[in-house]
This record gives sequence, structure tokens and C-alpha cells, in this order.
Amino acid sequence: MSEKKKPMLDVVMDLLVRRGFLVQTAEIYGNGLAGFYDFLPNGIQMRENIKKAWREFFVWSSIDPLIYEIEGAIVNPEEVFIASGHVSSFSDPLVSCSKCNAQLRADHLLEKVVGMKTEGLTTPQIQDAIKKHDVKCTECGGSLAPVEDFNLMLKTDVGPSKNSKRSYLRPETAQSIFCDFKRVFQTMRAQLPFGICQIGNSYRNEISPRQGLIRMRGFTQMEIEFFFDPDEPVHPDFDAVKETRINLITRETQAKEETADDIVEITIGEAMNKGVFPNNIQAYFVGKVFEFYQSIGIPYEALRFRHLLETETPFYSKGNFDLEIKLDMGWKEAVGIAYRTNHDLSTHAKNSGIKLEADVQKANQPLKKVVPHVVEPSFGVERALYSILEHAYRPAIEKGAAKKNDSDREWDWFQIQPHIAPFSAMVYPLMKKPELTKKAIELFKAIKAAGIPVFYDHAGQIGRRYARADEIGTPFCFTIDYQTNEDGTVTIRDRDTTKQIRVPLTDCVPVLQSLVRREKKFFDLGTPIK
Ligand code: AMP
Repeated sequence: MSEKKKPMLDVVMDLLVRRGFLVQTAEIYGNGLAGFYDFLPNGIQMRENIKKAWREFFVWSSIDPLIYEIEGAIVNPEEVFIASGHVSSFSDPLVSCSKCNAQLRADHLLEKVVGMKTEGLTTPQIQDAIKKHDVKCTECGGSLAPVEDFNLMLKTDVGPSKNSKRSYLRPETAQSIFCDFKRVFQTMRAQLPFGICQIGNSYRNEISPRQGLIRMRGFTQMEIEFFFDPDEPVHPDFDAVKETRINLITRETQAKEETADDIVEITIGEAMNKGVFPNNIQAYFVGKVFEFYQSIGIPYEALRFRHLLETETPFYSKGNFDLEIKLDMGWKEAVGIAYRTNHDLSTHAKNSGIKLEADVQKANQPLKKVVPHVVEPSFGVERALYSILEHAYRPAIEKGAAKKNDSDREWDWFQIQPHIAPFSAMVYPLMKKPELTKKAIELFKAIKAAGIPVFYDHAGQIGRRYARADEIGTPFCFTIDYQTNEDGTVTIRDRDTTKQIRVPLTDCVPVLQSLVRREKKFFDLGTPIK
């Protein structure tokens, strides 16, 4: 099969391994551990950039209301997940083949073999459908045992055997936010509305983690729990997103199969007026999330929000909206925004015996105690990383073929946003000679000190170094050459056009800052080289 015909998932995952982004965990032992990846230098840096962009967009820019960040433990005791409902019902339908013992996800099997939509189906309904369509094992054609609920949490026992405590690797970061709610509220002297957020690893024992970074067993989440008084479900910054245009799949269009994927283009303000959202806090986050994914490099037309059907959401939810990204394999959920009411705080309060309330003190009114409601936007970092890369992928043209566009190169490359690419800049001495390397190292250190991810490379031909920079999506390359010693200028090469400008060495850091922030155009920042 030629590289072009390969599914994009294989093309991109292959490149990520070959270009130092990641490797399957314990790869040297054959198949390693499915669903787990070790991140390598380029992958870590890109993942850090996504987290930083997220913190800047959602957390650091939110002054009133404030969003506080915490970092909970990855292992939590069973009590936490009994209260959250994960012990009793965080499961996927599993079906086993009676002949070859293959274990398959029953809903995915139905989707693949029968082509039916399975969202919101209960386990007995899935069982009935398998029976009705006489679905057999896709591995060997054998008959299938009854569908069972398979709990996705990874168990562990903490402490020496006699006194060990049943615990779980958290399947989401949210629960420690609820457990720590009271401490954060008191110690930060918080006032409703406010948010608590967390970035960290979550673990799910997925039945068949076969989709690279899309379905992993260990992945990174970025979650916000935004707490508010249910009598005042208003986001103070709502006006900032009123005009934001989104692509939406409503519950109405999903009611009929022929219109199930129809997209309505609508502003957040219009959707709010039409009663699409339960409150403007959820609307606010839908708008912000849509903006955020465009800012990190997913095109507008490849983004849509789907209003989940009531059958797909838990009983306590008053509305879930999933951000889906169009990928080669189809539309995939990248963010879930759920209005979880006060379900989590209430059940943790009931099970722990600790009141989880907030004081609300309004002028001339008696002190009120409320169990806050919560809207939860929940993001997957690796799904974002993969989606950005798939959309940024630019395939190589054939060796020796005529170039028709700036993007045509003889190597595959990634057109990633400057603040998301693993490195925003490369610094090169033209040759590995002291009269060039000294200045190059100084420039490298100055860029690093400004907090911009940068890489120093002095190995090989300069053309080959430019190609290597493209291969991991680096937008700007700075080269110190002999002219630098004469007139104090350096060249900057622009990834997207492959053109170069010369700028004074002393201006490099501010020039790069404005390029990364996309404040100015490349050719307005220096003298073009013909
Ligand atoms: P959920 O709690 O299932 O709505 O998950 C929230 C977000 O976490 C999703 O939108 C994904 O971006 C991410 N996520 C969930 N499960 C996985 C997984 N198995 N692998 C990678 N990312 C995941």
C-alpha cells in the first residue's frame, strides 16, 4: 500500500514515532503495552505548549471570575469513586467470542458490522441488536457470548497486603476537584461564581485502544469545574462570546436519521435566545471552546458541537455538548461540556458527612448557603495534539517534481501554529565554527530566557536542517552567518513560504515574540532576501 493511501491515523502516528514525538510504552518488548505511550522531547514540548495555550486562554485570562488550579493525586481511594458512580457504572459493553476468545467492544462491533448508531443504547438493547442481526466475531466468525458491562477503572491496592486499601487510578481529574472544593473555597476566599481547574493524567482500561492517541489507556485531561449559584446562572463575561459563530448539531436534527448530521451555523447569542442552552454559563464555555480550538489550529469547518440526546447523558445532567473534530476516521469527540448540576458535591457530601456548600452574601440580604451547581468543560490533550497534527500535515511531493505552491516540498511537514509547534524557533550557526557558534548560542539562550521554546542545531547542511525543522513543524529558523559578524544581522527563514528576511541580531527576540503572537507579518519585520 502506498503511503498516500494509508489511513491518516497510520501516516501521522508513524511520523510521530519517527520524529521523536512519542513511542509506544515498553516498545522494546514486542508490542509494548497497548494504549500507553511514552512522550519524547518533541511530543512533550508540543503537549506543554497546548497546556500553556489552554491555561492562557481559560485560566490566566479569567480574573473575575477567577479560576483556581489544583493538582490532585492520580490514585484515589474507592470511596471517591463510589460517590461519583464510577464503581457502579463506569463501564463499556464487552462481548467475548466463544471460539477464539477475542474480546470486543459490543457497541463498536455493531457500528462496524451493522452500521447502526449506538449512542445512548443500554446493554440489553445492544444485546438484542447483536442477536437480531446475528452478529458474529469479526476475528474468526465464531458466535458471541452475552454482552457484559466491563468497568473501565484500573484497580490497585495501596499499602502492605493485610492493611491495604482498595483504590483506583482516576478515570477523570474532576473528582479531586469536588473533594478539594471546600478547602479551595475557604483558603482562597473564593466567591461564586468561580472555577477550579486541573491538568493531569487519567486512566481508563479501554477495551480496544486501537486508535493511537484518540483512544488511550493513559491520557492527559484539562478540566474546569465552574461553580455557580443555581439562582444566578450567569457568566459575567457572556457578552464576550455572544457574537461567536459555531457549528451546531441540534437535538431536533438528530431526531431523524436523514438529518442527523446536519449542521446549523449560529452565534452563541442566537442559540441562547432560541433556548438551546440550559444557561448562559454553558453557552459561554461552548463559545470559548470553539474559539480555542481554532486558535490552536483546527479549521472552523472541521469543528462542530453536538448537543447530546437525553438518552446519552446521565440522569443528573441538564445538558451535554460535545465538541467534535473532523478527522480522516470521522468526527471524534475532543471536549465534553456537561452541566452536572450539584450532583457530585451532593453525593460527596452525603457519603463523606462533610458539608460542601458555599456562602453567598448579598448586600442587605441574609447569608445564604448553597450547594453550587457546576458546568464542566473536559478536554483531552492528546486528542487535541493528534487532531492538530492531522490538520497540519503536508505530504511530500515526488522527488524532482515541479513545485506549484509554497507548501510543496520533497519531505512531509507540519504547518502547526507558531505557539503550538514543539519549537517556535531553531537557532543555527551556518557552520560549526567558533566565530559563528558563540553568537548562535547567545541568541539561543536569549530566546530561551524569553520563555519561547527553541532548539539549537549545528549538525549537517543548512538545507537539511531547514527540512528537519519543517518535519516537526518549526515555524522560524534563525541562522548566524558570516554577514552577522560584518553588519550584526541574522537571517530568519519562514517555514510556510521558505523565504528569508534579515533582521538585526539585537531585535531577534522581540521579532520572534511578535511572530509567535501573530502580531505582525513576516515580511514587515525585516529586509527580504532575494
Ligand atoms: P469524557 O469524560 O469521556 O467525556 O472525556 C473527556 C475528554 O477526555 C474527551 O473529550 C477526550 O478528549 C478525552 N478522552 C476520554 N477518553 C479518552 C481516551 N481513552 N483516550 C484519549 N483521550 C480521551
